[in-house]
Amino acid sequence: MTSFEDAGRLDAADPLAPKRQAFHLPDGVIYLDGNSLGAMPKRAPARLRTVLETEWAERLIRSWTESDWINLPLRVGDRVAPLIGAGPGEVVVGDSTSVNLYKCLGAARALRPDRRVILTEQDNFPTDNYIIEGIARSERMEIRYVPAGTDPREALDERVAVVLLTQVNYRTAAMHDLAAVTAAAHRAGAVMIWDLSHSVGVVPLDVRGAAVDFAVGCTYKYLNGGPGAPAFTYVAPAHAASVAQPLSGWMGHKTPFAFAQHYEPAAEIRRYLCGTPQILSLAALDESLAVWDGVDMSAVREKSLRMTQLFMDLVERHCAGHGLEIVTPRNAQRGSHVSIACAHGYPVIRAMVEGGVIGDFRAPDLMRFGFAPLYGSYAEVAEAVRIMQEILVTGAWRDPKYATVLAVT
Ligand SMILES: *Cc1c(COP(=O)(O)O)cnc(C)c1O
Repeated sequence: MTSFEDAGRLDAADPLAPKRQAFHLPDGVIYLDGNSLGAMPKRAPARLRTVLETEWAERLIRSWTESDWINLPLRVGDRVAPLIGAGPGEVVVGDSTSVNLYKCLGAARALRPDRRVILTEQDNFPTDNYIIEGIARSERMEIRYVPAGTDPREALDERVAVVLLTQVNYRTAAMHDLAAVTAAAHRAGAVMIWDLSHSVGVVPLDVRGAAVDFAVGCTYKYLNGGPGAPAFTYVAPAHAASVAQPLSGWMGHKTPFAFAQHYEPAAEIRRYLCGTPQILSLAALDESLAVWDGVDMSAVREKSLRMTQLFMDLVERHCAGHGLEIVTPRNAQRGSHVSIACAHGYPVIRAMVEGGVIGDFRAPDLMRFGFAPLYGSYAEVAEAVRIMQEILVTGAWRDPKYATVLAVT
């Protein structure tokens, strides 16, 4: 399937098309960066107004109980749970993915005190590996990096304490077989931590079924929680009850308002809280998760694969001969974005943004386009390729104004 005309037919038959109504999408923009910051749900502003004008302004501190702010991290966690295959009371939302990685690594490390190696990938998202470096320094552990494109299972042995991987690679969108890698880690006696930042909201997940030990992930990407929305943490119930996490803040205490002298962890997942919850961000995220109620994840996955397939087919057909190389797998072992290596990728992306197509750029040479099945259309996929083709054919990207590098790409 490679024609621009196919897009209209696919949109007409798309069971998820009505979901687009739930989002504010600016006129004149084709948004292909929902893998970095999801679109705003239309109901978010009203919810935030209520939190500001009623809960904060009028009820003031009473809202911790009257508006149940105190339990918001768990209530929102219960809304994330079905999207990752977890049960109620198994997910908490708070802090950032980076901070939650630290908590999980610390807890996982404590589960395997006799082992010294943390296994990760060389091309993991940088913050994941930076956090691993920090833990390795303080815990005197060793880091074993699996080279890009290598099966991490081959690097497992009896010295590995913890395996930390990101299921969908942020550059290439290549996807690990979560269940198979988790099973192999367990056979080797290691604890498995998954970063689901680029999976949640596009890939059906079953952390319980796969017996995952720990999982974390962003909520501001495909879940559309808003800039800086807090991240989720899943911990297998047996671990949550048996081991403490290292950021032993008061909100994870058994009885925070007893103001006891010493830390005692709360029962189960609440102990993964640290400080005071981010109520405004949690409220916006709560609204965005309401959009997911009743959404069939297999339909989401099917649309995601079709959108990325259509994009790759059209790019190959219409943008050949301009030095582009698609680095995203053509088989189904991929997430919901497509990356294209190109020596002049940065100015091409800048020209596309000016032409109304928002993608992003990842150093050194990747143009990245994310496809959000809840609000993206196939017609937009086709139009984005048409605009890219025009920019390549006319050489519009050569304008020197596109060469200056912006602070956030
Ligand atoms: C986006 C992303 C992060 C971001 O972490 P923050 O702490 O929220 O900034 C971490 N890991 C992966 C794999 C990501 O894709």
